[in-house]
Amino acid sequence: MFYIHCPYCGEYRGEEEFSPKGEAHITRPADPDGCSDEEWGSYLFFRQNPRGVHHELWVHTLGCRKFFNITRHTVSYEIFETYRMGEQPKVTEQSLAEALNKTRKEESV
Ligand SMILES: [Zn+2]
Repeated sequence: MFYIHCPYCGEYRGEEEFSPKGEAHITRPADPDGCSDEEWGSYLFFRQNPRGVHHELWVHTLGCRKFFNITRHTVSYEIFETYRMGEQPKVTEQSLAEALNKTRKEESV
């Protein structure tokens, strides 16, 4: 079992209190009637499935019932951060790679 920090409750709680809801930051097209079938299909069905850093939408089902986002590594399951809806992630694949390169340079000196 792993623990998840709810950014609304402010507590670490067991994973069984939460439910994953898929990829985060999926934006509904502003004008559904004006977009192509390909754009609409992409919005509805196509998601990233990265090996590495992934931003996911979760809900605190057995707690405050609020939706929030998690930045998680899909291989190690490590959770880097949780953040409220409307906020942007601080940890990305690029920022993680830069931090790793910085650590390696410091270790090689
Ligand atoms: Zn909560």
